[in-house]
Amino acid sequence: MYNPATGQVQAQVPLASAAEVDAAVQAAREAARTWRLVPLGRRAEIMFRFRAQLDARRDELARIVTREHGKVHSDALGEIARGLENVDYACGIPNLLKGGYSEGASTGVDVYSIQQPLGVVAGITPFNFPAMVPLWMMCNALACGNAFILKPSEKDPSASLFLAGLLKEAGLPDGVLTVLHGDKEAVDALLAHPGVAAISFVGSTPVARSIYEAGTKNGKRVQALGGAKNHMIVLPDADIGMAADAAVSAGYGSAGERCMAISVVVAVGGVGDRLVEAIQARIPAVKVGPGDVAGNEMGPLISGEHRDRVAGYVAGAEAEGATLLVDGRDHGIEGDGYFLKPSLIDHAAPGMKCYDDEIFGPVLSVTRVDTYEEALKLVNDNEYGNGTAIFTRDGGAARQFQFDCEVGMVGINVPIPVPVAYYSFGGWKASLFGDTHMYGPEGVKFYTRSKVVTSRWPDPATSTVNLGFPTNG
Ligand code: NAD
Repeated sequence: MYNPATGQVQAQVPLASAAEVDAAVQAAREAARTWRLVPLGRRAEIMFRFRAQLDARRDELARIVTREHGKVHSDALGEIARGLENVDYACGIPNLLKGGYSEGASTGVDVYSIQQPLGVVAGITPFNFPAMVPLWMMCNALACGNAFILKPSEKDPSASLFLAGLLKEAGLPDGVLTVLHGDKEAVDALLAHPGVAAISFVGSTPVARSIYEAGTKNGKRVQALGGAKNHMIVLPDADIGMAADAAVSAGYGSAGERCMAISVVVAVGGVGDRLVEAIQARIPAVKVGPGDVAGNEMGPLISGEHRDRVAGYVAGAEAEGATLLVDGRDHGIEGDGYFLKPSLIDHAAPGMKCYDDEIFGPVLSVTRVDTYEEALKLVNDNEYGNGTAIFTRDGGAARQFQFDCEVGMVGINVPIPVPVAYYSFGGWKASLFGDTHMYGPEGVKFYTRSKVVTSRWPDPATSTVNLGFPTNG
C-alpha cells in the first residue's frame, strides 16, 4: 500500500483467503444471533456514542484518509462530515423500524408489519471514499440488527479499521462488525458463501455488474453501485462566473476521483466561448500538492498506474479531434507522488474516448450544443445515470430538466448533488445494479425483511370448520 503523495510503500495489507472468509462469516453468524436480541434503544445508544467519538476524532481520521488516499485534509474532513450524517440517521433506528398496525382489518382481526434483520450482510467499498462509503453501509446495517462484514478497498483500508475501533469503544459487541482485508478472492468467497444474506457494493461498473450477477445467482439480495459520467448543462441564461466556479470545483475536487464529479460540461446556445474562457482562467489558481500541506486544494491520484491511465486520455484528446486547452501532465511537483494538474479539453463529443469513458481524474471536457434538447439527449444517451446538474436562472427550464433526465441524482445550480442521509443515494442505468439505493430509507429497507402478521383472538366456543377462502368479513 502506497502513500500517493510520495509514491513510497507505507504498509502491507494481508489479503484474506477463502478459508479466512469462511471463518469470518461463521463468527459473524454467531454474533448476529445475539445482536438481533439487543433492544432498539440500546442499539441507538451505541450509535449515539459512536457519533460522539467520530465527531471528536474527525481530524485524526482525516489524516489517515489523506495519507492513504491522497485527498487534501479539508476534503477528507468533508467526506467524514457527510459520513457522520449516516450515523445521525442510524441513531433514529427505533423510529425507523416502527411497523404498521391495522386494528380491525377484518372482524376481530388485526394486521401488523414488522421489519427483521437479514443476518450476516457484507459491504465491499471503493478506494475513493474510504470513510464515507463504509459509513453509508455499516450504520444502517448494524442498527437494523445485522452482523456486518466490511471488505474495504485494499488501497486505503485503515479508515475502516479506525471506524471499527470506535464502534468497539462505543459498545458494539465483538463479532458484530468484521473488517476483512482482501481482493477478488475474498469478494468471490463472500459472493459464494451461503451464510451471507446480502451484499452492498460500491465501485466500478464492470465489477458492480459481475457482483450483482454472481450475488443474485446465489440467492442474495444485492445493491451494486457502479461508475459514472456526470454532465453539467449550462443554459444561455446561467451566471457564467457561478457556472465556471462550479465546474472547476466539481471537476477537479478530489482530483476528479469522485463518482459524482462533473466530467463533461455541456455549453448550450452559444455560451461556450465565455464559459470555457472563465473555466480556463480559474485553473492556474487551483493549488495542487500533497494533501497534508495546508492550503493545497487538490492532491495526487491513487496510484501510478491510474495516473498514467488518466494522462493517456489527455495525450489522446487532440488525435480524437478535441482541443486540449490546458494540459495537466507537466505538473512540476517534486518527488515520486502520483500528481497531475487539472486538464481542460474543449470540443469533446460522443465517440471520443475522452468523452465516452469514465476517466476518474482531473480532466474536464466541454462539449457545445445549440439547444436544450441536444443537451438532454447527451445526458440520456449516456450509458451511465449517476448524477447530473443544470445551471440556469430559469426555474421552468430546471423543472423540465428534472422531469426529463434519466439520472438518479439531479442538481439545480448544485454541481455535486449527493443526497443528505435521510434521502437515499443511487444512480440509474449502468450506475446501479439492483433496485435499492444506498443509505437513508432505502438502506433500512435493504437491510431488513418485512413480515406481516394477521392475528385474532376469538372465543374458541365460536370456532367452526370453514373451507372457504378467508375474506374481509
Ligand atoms: P473497483 O471496482 O476497482 O473496486 C471496488 C471494490 O471491489 C474494492 O473493494 C476492490 O477490492 C473490489 N474489487 C476490485 N476488482 C474486483 C473484482 N474483479 N472482483 C471482485 N471484487 C473486486 O473500484 P475503485 O477503483 O476502488 O473505485 C472507483 C470506482 O468506483 C469508480 O468507477 C467510481 O465511479 C466508482 N464509485 C461509484 C460510487 C457510486 O456511488 N456509484 C461511489 C464511489 C465510487
